[in-house]
This record gives sequence, C-alpha cells and structure tokens, in this order.
Amino acid sequence: MSHRRPFVAGNWKMHMGADTATAFTEQLVATDLPTTVDVVVCPPFVSLPAAAMMLSGSAVVLGAQNAHWEDAGAFTGEVAPPMLAELGVEWVIIGHSERRTLFGETDASAARRAASVQRAGLGVIYCIGETLEQRDDGDTMDVLQRQCAVLEALDPERLVVAYEPVWAIGTGRTATADQAQEAHAFVRSRLAALFDGPTAAAVRVVYGGSLKPGNADELLALADVDGGLIGGASLDVSSFSAIIRAAASAARE
Ligand code: PEP
Repeated sequence: MSHRRPFVAGNWKMHMGADTATAFTEQLVATDLPTTVDVVVCPPFVSLPAAAMMLSGSAVVLGAQNAHWEDAGAFTGEVAPPMLAELGVEWVIIGHSERRTLFGETDASAARRAASVQRAGLGVIYCIGETLEQRDDGDTMDVLQRQCAVLEALDPERLVVAYEPVWAIGTGRTATADQAQEAHAFVRSRLAALFDGPTAAAVRVVYGGSLKPGNADELLALADVDGGLIGGASLDVSSFSAIIRAAASAARE
C-alpha cells in the first residue's frame, strides 16, 4: 500500500432494499472499524434514505451507483447528482463494467456523468478495466490508456479510480498480484501524465474484482493499490469489515 489514505467502497449492486439496508448499516456502524480508512457504501437508489439515516453521525460515508449528466429533465428512470447530494451521498460510482456491458455505457457517456457528479460537489469513483478478450489480445494497457483519457476533464481532488478487470468481477477470479500491480502502476503513470505531480500523486487507485478477506492482504499490500471497490464481499458485514481492516494494516506496513 502507498502513503495515500486507503479507500474501501462497497458496491451493493441490485441488492438490499430499504429494510435490509437499515439492518446492514446498523450492524456496520456498530462494528469496530479502523479510523484510518475511508469507508463508503453504495446501496441501490431506493435504499439511500434508509442507509443515510443509519450512517448519520458515523464515519461511514454514503455512495450511489450511478447518476445522470443533467441536473433535471425528461430522463425516465434516471437520477440526477443534485438529488443524490440532497440525500447525503458523497461519492458516485461511474462507468462500472456492468453499466458498460449491460446498459450501453460508453467512455463518452461515463465522462458526462462523472462531470455532472463533480459539478454537484460529489466525488467520482471512476471504473476502468479490460475484458478477458482484451487481456488475451494483449490490449490491456491500450484499453486502460483510452479509458483514462476521460479523467483529464475531471477534478482530480474529487476522484478515485477503480481498476476492475472485467473478467474478475463477480466471477471469483482475481487478478494476480503481478497483474494488479502492473495495471495500477500504469494507471498511476497516466495520472502523472494528465495532472501535475503532487495532484496526480494524491489520487487514489483502488482494485476491484472478487476482492475478499482471503486475498485482501496480498492485493491491498501492493505498492500502487490504495484500497478496493468490493461487490459480493461487501454484502456481508464481517467480510466487508475484514477487508477494511486489511486495508488499514496494509497502510501501516
Ligand atoms: C464490483 O462490483 O465492482 C466488484 C468488484 O464486484 P465483486 O467484488 O463481486 O467482483
């Protein structure tokens, strides 16, 4: 782990309605979590008010899983960043691979969403990552370079980049330590090309893709890994908090 403050976010995806979100966040805030890690949970939109109520006064921060690029308008089914801000949301996941592969999200639409999230004063967790086919074709770094180009238009002070190899998301397959470190080092080099030195050095780059208590120590200890974006393992308080603790101890070493 680097000198940057670890950032660990749970992406609940389409799990946990309001009642379950209340029970989960109640248990999470009652858990003894390290104070040296930024912890975010990203429930589905409908569960945000319930989670917000439970997290109020705690160090755990609220995130959302998507947001539209306009502040209001005729966009059926979409949610605007100011609406999320009103609920106490502080971070929004943008460009998740499930949005890209299942819902037609592109670099261009993700860029617009990310910019509008930042205009509303919120932070962006911007997801990038190659598919298995792209990795097998040797295109990983080209894909990451193209996806990172979008970051130039964003405010780096309200940005976390999530490197999530698509083939490792929800599959139980994890990137090896070498694969993760190589990709993270490459993303860091792109950040250094886009922003001035100290600004680029402050942006956190977190790993996502079947991160769980059993592999968290190894992955979070990597030099350029600053935390994690966690799907499946974030749905269980004990595994989510074990990963948060692993991030805290990796930062101490
Ligand atoms: C994710 O949804 O961003 C993710 C990394 O999922 P999982 O941890 O389940 O692979």
